[in-house]
Amino acid sequence: MNGLPARRLLLVHAHPDDESINNGVTMAKYAAEGAHVTLVTCTLGEEGEVIPPELAHLAADRDDALGAHRVGELAAAMAELGVTDHRFLGGPGRFRDSGMMGAPQNGRPQAFWSADVDEAAAYLVEVIREVRPQVLVTYDPDGGYGHPDHIQAHRVAMRAAELAAESAYRRDLGAPHAVEKIYWNRVPLSVVEEGFAALRAAGRETPFPGLATPADVPGVVADERITAEIAGEEPYAAAKAAAMRAHATQIAVDGPFFALSNDLTQPLFTGEYYELAAGRPGAAAGEREHDLFAGVRA
Ligand SMILES: [Zn+2]
Repeated sequence: MNGLPARRLLLVHAHPDDESINNGVTMAKYAAEGAHVTLVTCTLGEEGEVIPPELAHLAADRDDALGAHRVGELAAAMAELGVTDHRFLGGPGRFRDSGMMGAPQNGRPQAFWSADVDEAAAYLVEVIREVRPQVLVTYDPDGGYGHPDHIQAHRVAMRAAELAAESAYRRDLGAPHAVEKIYWNRVPLSVVEEGFAALRAAGRETPFPGLATPADVPGVVADERITAEIAGEEPYAAAKAAAMRAHATQIAVDGPFFALSNDLTQPLFTGEYYELAAGRPGAAAGEREHDLFAGVRA
């Protein structure tokens, strides 16, 4: 429709860097294959901690200039992944990072966590009706690990998919569109265990002082829950690592490992895993899909 590429993928994330950590390989692969890949990021990540000491002044409790800086990091990451369509929900700065669960920032009027879900979803409906994705990727209901912005991103994405398909809803936002498949980011337990075994074997060689545990990895579930797997092949695995490196205020990458501001070394997973939350599976029962568009009709 309207000259759009045949395959269209939409990803909804909370902060700049979440897309590269969770879906960098998937985004690079589909972009390289000519699919239209759209990233919607819900906040600028203004409340993030800053890793490089020389940039520490950007933090919210000092210059409060991290959001604008992270806009640039995200643009650099998207260049590494070959993704040209990246947007902020409602425009840059419309919703602010809510900080960690329980933080006083949760209750700020601009905080994404304080936003009315339907009001925030309307911005996403407009994007859905414009780019008309067959496939939507977002977080599970717990937001992977319980960050308020991740939980809210899940709620907004799920609600927007519902509203976008409703023929009577806000025709001023475009013609109705039903997303065929919705996936939640997941990480299978066996992959986490293997990653941490490798980490323990090499952990002393990493520059980060601490070691993460499987419990620190968002979205870990029993292997049986995984319905789709995108293998961490080259050149996409390298693009993912480069995209993560572009988020330099948030992520320190060291070969097959990385650390966030908590300085805990964790494995950099290049394989990416999903659970089909809505839509028809494109693989036989009990088998994993290796293409998020498997079984898509139009
Ligand atoms: Zn995040």
